[in-house]
Amino acid sequence: MHIHFLSWSAKAQTLSRLFLGLCSFRSPDLSPRLMAPPPDDIRRLRVGLLYDERMCLHTTPDGEIHPECPDRIRAIWNKLNSEGIPQRCIVLDAKKAKDKHIAHVHTLNHIKLIKNISSKEFDSRRQRIASKFNSIYLNQGSSEAAYLAAGSVIEVAEKVAKGDLNSGIAIVRPPGHHAEPDEAMGFCLFNNVAIAASFLLNEKPELGIRKILIVDWDVHHGNGTQKVFYDDPRVLFFSVHRFDSGSFYPAGDDGAYFMIGEGAGAGYNINIPWEHGQCGDADYFAVWDHVLIPIAEAYNPDIILVSAGFDAAIGDPLGGCCVTPYGYSVLLEKLMRFAQGKIVMALEGGYNLKSIANSVLACAKVLLHEEYVGSTQTPIFESTWHVIETVRHELKGYWPVLNVELPQSLLLSNSRPRPPEVIYSSSESDVENDEEVSTAHIINNEESAEDNLILPLSKLKIDEDNHEKLHASKQVQIVGSSTPSEACHDAQELAPNNTALCGFTWRSLLSGVEVWYATYGSNMWKPRFLCYIEGGKVDGMSTRCCGSLDKSSPKQTIWKVVPHRLLFGRSYTRTWGEGGVAFLNPERGTSDRAYLCIYRITLEQFNDVLFQENSLHQEDATLQGLESPLLDLGILDYVVKNKSLPLETLKNGWYSTVLFLGKEDELPILTMTCSASDVERFKSGKVPTSAPSEPYMNTLVNGLVEGKQLTKEEAIAYVNDAASRRDYKYI
Ligand SMILES: [Zn+2]
Repeated sequence: MHIHFLSWSAKAQTLSRLFLGLCSFRSPDLSPRLMAPPPDDIRRLRVGLLYDERMCLHTTPDGEIHPECPDRIRAIWNKLNSEGIPQRCIVLDAKKAKDKHIAHVHTLNHIKLIKNISSKEFDSRRQRIASKFNSIYLNQGSSEAAYLAAGSVIEVAEKVAKGDLNSGIAIVRPPGHHAEPDEAMGFCLFNNVAIAASFLLNEKPELGIRKILIVDWDVHHGNGTQKVFYDDPRVLFFSVHRFDSGSFYPAGDDGAYFMIGEGAGAGYNINIPWEHGQCGDADYFAVWDHVLIPIAEAYNPDIILVSAGFDAAIGDPLGGCCVTPYGYSVLLEKLMRFAQGKIVMALEGGYNLKSIANSVLACAKVLLHEEYVGSTQTPIFESTWHVIETVRHELKGYWPVLNVELPQSLLLSNSRPRPPEVIYSSSESDVENDEEVSTAHIINNEESAEDNLILPLSKLKIDEDNHEKLHASKQVQIVGSSTPSEACHDAQELAPNNTALCGFTWRSLLSGVEVWYATYGSNMWKPRFLCYIEGGKVDGMSTRCCGSLDKSSPKQTIWKVVPHRLLFGRSYTRTWGEGGVAFLNPERGTSDRAYLCIYRITLEQFNDVLFQENSLHQEDATLQGLESPLLDLGILDYVVKNKSLPLETLKNGWYSTVLFLGKEDELPILTMTCSASDVERFKSGKVPTSAPSEPYMNTLVNGLVEGKQLTKEEAIAYVNDAASRRDYKYI
């Protein structure tokens, strides 16, 4: 049986423990805070709370494990109940959105699809339809849940806008902020917050809501919401999200700082694109203080809708950031002085059940003006100042309040360097000198983005065995601190285990995803390749491989010939001694032919091979210590779309670029090779090309012969030809 799995995962996270020592570093302006309002305020406060079990009906077909699971909202509801929060709030009934209200945001075709998708007539087609979208699953409960989620945000927003409530929280799913006018994506079917905003503006003018601030603090960019209001100055859309040079989901330029809106909406779209993971409370506070709050003051919104995803929360398995419940409480509290405190929170992402429950609890207490104590101790990243200055510069023409330089003293104080990537200095074959690797640079992704071949990751298959394993590996929650003093401690607890969150480890997730690994060098000989899986070495190798943690053999082996050039670069390798090693030119050439032996393995194993190929098993870095995948589902999605991606985490390795070579049986064919800049250096002669040593040559020949591709003589001629060609223009 095959089941579908969806794309989504944190980009390779970094070794957070390396700088956890900085936890004791206290930012002077971030001190513990108490909120104790006058008693009569409490009496007057009316905070709405909406939860409906029917939104749990949307779940994966056949019960596959998925981060966006019904337990997310149950965990929040249970936590709030355990603290008696509903008793202090106005509990509202869920309502289904009306089509005419949804139609302010979505196309009629899209509405029709979501309306009918759960009906019987779609039973046989539902899976196929879901697989056409990016990261979407659908079942018999999806339609109802989608209508309830959108309608419930409308319900809370209307009551807050009217003044029946001071503020409110809609605990809804499926989430909404990725859903575009004509497309479901990223676990989102209808764009709940955009629909509620459009409802207030277009359906209820009598409520006097003319200007809406949408604050999207989900760790992913709110691409759908941005698109809906991109030219509309009635909505100021603010999104703070991981961007990682455009590689973090949903990937591309939409979440970039320069996407500021257009037409009448120019200046009303604000993106804060984090350059890397691990951003925490202090980074978010700085963005609030130096971008969002000054602009909100100038904009003076009539109501604030928060796209409240909690996947930037500490311990989230997808987000890789470190916002504590206290951090969220401060972010929310800073918004409460606008719009007479009219704030509507709508749940978006957030996949660590304990973290999201604690974070929503913290926010509920803020809305209720109850005490929430905390402190933040980690300093701001230097890159955060860079992002803030870039965004301020971009927007200062629209928001004069930003047209002042931030004081140098602020920029220089209390910042920390960007988080370290996995550090390694050599590849399978050792580098000749450090200076050389330091010159390696990342190729322009646009250069390698040829045709836009999209393989939705929902098509990736998990077989039954792996599915069982996935279930078996489900672990107990970690994380999330409800008290601030625990936060730093939690971070230390978390970091080494950051992969074991929310019931998932990256290994358990990726062990269920199959890919084809295309080999063109010594790995074409299966016994040599198996060293990377089972560990050990074959004749001619001077060092042993550690093997993958999953030692199961490839499920299948196939051969292909591709229009890429095989070349032999470097002149010495640690594993093989004197002589060059094989690379595949990432560029295709019309007259080029390279043989590929392609193994069907899991994405977990592919990561372990990638790790070993780049000799990440240096010093104390071990496979067991590989806290994050080098290539997760999100990165895979990007590679598949863009054909090639140099991995920042592997930039000093020899096989740092992952290439997508097409599909076989619906699964992506991937290989790893040198970067485009290395090819340039081969061409210029800065790095020698060199014939392979005899033992290395033998492995290629053995592979080609045993794979029945060539005779021994033909194989020798093929390798010699590739090694001897000096026509670099064809490299
Ligand atoms: Zn998210």
